[in-house]
Amino acid sequence: MSSNALPRHADLRKLAAASATVCGAVDMQALTRLLPLLLDTAGSVHAELRLGSDDEGYRTIRGRITARAVLQCQRCLGPVALDLDVPVSLAMVWAEKEIPSLPSRYEGVVVGEDPADLYDLVEEEMLLSLPLVAAHESGSCPSQPEARDQNEDDSAAEPLRENPFAVLRDKGDGAGN
Ligand SMILES: [Zn+2]
Repeated sequence: MSSNALPRHADLRKLAAASATVCGAVDMQALTRLLPLLLDTAGSVHAELRLGSDDEGYRTIRGRITARAVLQCQRCLGPVALDLDVPVSLAMVWAEKEIPSLPSRYEGVVVGEDPADLYDLVEEEMLLSLPLVAAHESGSCPSQPEARDQNEDDSAAEPLRENPFAVLRDKGDGAGN
């Protein structure tokens, strides 16, 4: 791994007051809610988080999270790699109930007096950014027969068959009497 590890626990309010930046990598293996969704659990997630305050006095966390996530294609069940680049725009709140009143440019994150778990924060952002249904792009999925099948079926339709002439025999043998 080339980059430093992201610290797991941090006093986010203190870091915001100091306008600090934290960045580093988190092992995929440490993200236990994410793991079941991944076909390849090697590798890591990289996070860069800039803490601070905005003009309205919100304590904010901005930055991005990048990772290559290998999910399972729901069409062919093979691996499909997604390069995720997740923008982070969070405002800290003391309680869940404050979240709905945040400006829409922010997602809320509850931060109390205790140190926050940055792995949790990173994992949450990752989970929110994953597609509900992973699949290869159309045309590059091995299981996708494209539109070819139907046409071929049509051209292979019943060969023309000559109607055998019904030979009409006149049985009018004159069954006498
Ligand atoms: Zn596929």
